[in-house]
Amino acid sequence: MTHIPFSGNPFDRASNQRQDDVWVAEQLASPAGRYLLLSRLEVLTHHSEAVELAWIDGAVCRGLDCAATPVLLGLRDGMPHFALDVSDIAEALPPLGVEGTAFAEARGLATTLPAEDAGIVAQARALVDWHTRHRYCGACGSPTVPAKAGAARHCEACGAQHFPRTDPVVIMVVWREDRCLLGRRRGRGPGAFSCIAGYVDQAETIEEAVRREVLEEVGLEIDEVVYHASQPWPFPSTLMIGCFAHATSFEAHVDELEIEEARWFTHNEIRAAVAGTNAELTIPGPVAIAHHLIRDWSEGL
Ligand SMILES: [Zn+2]
Repeated sequence: MTHIPFSGNPFDRASNQRQDDVWVAEQLASPAGRYLLLSRLEVLTHHSEAVELAWIDGAVCRGLDCAATPVLLGLRDGMPHFALDVSDIAEALPPLGVEGTAFAEARGLATTLPAEDAGIVAQARALVDWHTRHRYCGACGSPTVPAKAGAARHCEACGAQHFPRTDPVVIMVVWREDRCLLGRRRGRGPGAFSCIAGYVDQAETIEEAVRREVLEEVGLEIDEVVYHASQPWPFPSTLMIGCFAHATSFEAHVDELEIEEARWFTHNEIRAAVAGTNAELTIPGPVAIAHHLIRDWSEGL
C-alpha cells in the first residue's frame, strides 16, 4: 500500500502532559516553541525550491495581537509545536522572520508537502476549525474557553468539558468476481466514477454502515466486509474508513438521489484508469483514499 495523504503525523501529542496547566504554561513560554499560523483555515507556507511549512518562532508569535489561544499540536525532538489562528489579524501581520510566505489551502498541500508535514496540516486544520465552531457550550449556551492546551474546551458556567469530534465515514470498493462497482455522483462529468461512501450513523458498526450505504445507494446486498485502510480528512473533521465489500449479486439499482449512475468495471478497466489510459473512466487522484482503495483492489491487495 502506498502512503495515504494526511496520514503520518509525526508529533507526540503529549496527551498526559497537557493535563498539567503548569507544564502547558512552560511550553507556551518556551523559547524553543514553534508556531504554525492559520488564516481562515489556510496554512502559512514558505516557498523556496519546494513548498514547506513556515514555522514561526514563539517570541514573534507572543507579540501578535490576535484573539485566538495557541493550540498544542504536539512535541517533536522535545520542542512544542503549536497552531495559531490569526484570521483576525491576517491582513496586517508584522514581519514574521521568514521570507516568502503565503497562506495555502490544505487540500492542495496534501500531495505537495512531505508526507509528515501534510499530516501536521490535517491535525492543525481540524483542530483550529473545531475551536472556531465550538465557542459556546452545547449544554447551556455560555461561552467556552480552551483547555488542555487546545485538546478540549471548558464551560465555566456549567462545568461541561467538550472534546474535538471526528466523524467516521465508510468508503468502499464493492466487488464481485473480477469486477468492482463504482458510482458517478450527480453533477460529475461522464466517466468520473468513484467509491460509494457515507457517514456512519448513530449506534452502527462499520460493517453495518457499509451494508446500509451500499443498499441505499445502489441496491446491492453485501455479505463480507473487509477493512483495508483509513485516512484523516480534515474538511472539517472526518475519518475515512476504507473497506472492500463483497456483493451477493450484480443486480444494482441506483437510488438517483446521490448517485446518478453505477457501473461494474473489470480489473483491466480499473488498471487502465489508474494508469490514466482509460478514456471511458476517470477515478479520483491520489489525494483521496478512493484512489488507493480502487488501485489496491485492482492489484489484488
Ligand atoms: Zn455550559
